[in-house]
Amino acid sequence: MSEKSLGKQLKETLIMENKNIGETIDEKELQKAFEFCDGYKTFLNAAKTEREAVDQIVKILEQHGFQPFDKNQTYQAGDKVYLNNRGKALIMATIGTQPIEQGVHLVASHIDAPRLDLKPRPLFEESQLAFFKTHYYGGIKKYQWTAIPLSLHGVIVKKDGTKIEVNIGESAEDPVFCVTDLLPHLAADQMKRSLPEAVKGEELTILIGSLPFKDDDISEKVKLNIMSLLNQKYGIVEGDFITAELEAVPAFPVQDIGFDRSLIGGYGQDDRVCAYTSLMGALTCDKPSKTLVTIFADKEETGSDGNTGLHASYLKYFIADLAKPYHVDGRTVLSHSQCLSADVNAAFDPKYPDVHEKNNAAYINYGVTLTKYTGSRGKGGTSDASAEFVAKVCNILDKHQVVWQIAELGKVDQGGGGTVAQYIANLDVDVIDIGVPVLSMHAPYEVTSKLDVYMTYKAFEAFAKDE
Ligand code: MN
Ligand code: MN
Repeated sequence: MSEKSLGKQLKETLIMENKNIGETIDEKELQKAFEFCDGYKTFLNAAKTEREAVDQIVKILEQHGFQPFDKNQTYQAGDKVYLNNRGKALIMATIGTQPIEQGVHLVASHIDAPRLDLKPRPLFEESQLAFFKTHYYGGIKKYQWTAIPLSLHGVIVKKDGTKIEVNIGESAEDPVFCVTDLLPHLAADQMKRSLPEAVKGEELTILIGSLPFKDDDISEKVKLNIMSLLNQKYGIVEGDFITAELEAVPAFPVQDIGFDRSLIGGYGQDDRVCAYTSLMGALTCDKPSKTLVTIFADKEETGSDGNTGLHASYLKYFIADLAKPYHVDGRTVLSHSQCLSADVNAAFDPKYPDVHEKNNAAYINYGVTLTKYTGSRGKGGTSDASAEFVAKVCNILDKHQVVWQIAELGKVDQGGGGTVAQYIANLDVDVIDIGVPVLSMHAPYEVTSKLDVYMTYKAFEAFAKDE
């Protein structure tokens, strides 16, 4: 029997050391994590836009006994409701046993992701090829969106109000679309452009066809041929694009990455990974102590403005409506509430170590990541969770054996970013960011670790079940 040296003993007590979950997790738990991620992958494949995410979430909620929220009804502990905001954002709630004036538990993720939106007048022909013009949505590295298969999702609302759902490019028999790029042989000038300019916004046009309409008397025959096909398929004319929301997203499905299958590759994981884990976490709790309100917001990637973004008032209104039958003000509820802002953080990429500060970076397989503050340039634009609230959340995670780490988004003055946290904090709620570390964030193909995804789910389950 060798005794531990004093130094070793002291080190164990005094020094903080994080460990890769893979080193300690037992085989059964690993299996559970992988199985959980099978459900996550199915969700990701079916939810490639905010509208599709809402549809998927509603489907799951109805299977679990959730009903559309009725603001004139008084709900009892264990009742389950949801509010669908314009088909693009959603709030779900499981009523708790505590009186509502003692506050609620909020978990807020976002279900929009960077993509290419079609312009209001997208269709044009150039040199006998037909294209859609796009305006990119959210922060993207534009060059990443060329030469990959794209699918088209969204709605076309006709003048008479009928809504046509579009989803083309996902099944094996569907065609796909793409943004072409220049061959290297002729790209000498392009290669001299700086990376943000390598592919310009107006160059993100999507190739959609090449066959001309057979008629010698007309011009722009390829455009007409495409419009004629679209008319046959969807019953639309060119003017109907004006009243449409069509989004081009990567057409490839989610896959396991690595010989050990430990990672997940796919589009839209920021932030549908937190949407799915918070949804599943909320569903584990039939009768919470505090009412559990889980939000799936839109428009986070463009700054949370707009009536489906969390800068809007629908969360505030929902809380007020929930509290009204008990003769409690919404603001009283909010002032006593606590929130996990469920969003991803950047995982440390050993290829680009210089953008991180190693002591305060998020690592793959080190668990769910707490982010005390986001922002940039001297914590500009962040809510910065209080020490008291960070302590409370860390305690909950430890109590439920959730493996967690804490990180900043990159090193000081390297860049930065924001989440919905500040908008909820501005309602007088205690908020901290928490979520999954992601490699290649905002790329068409983002990477997460199954163990981190699983720990994030366990974190939301722990919060739901906490007093
Ligand atoms: Mn995000
Ligand atoms: Mn993002």
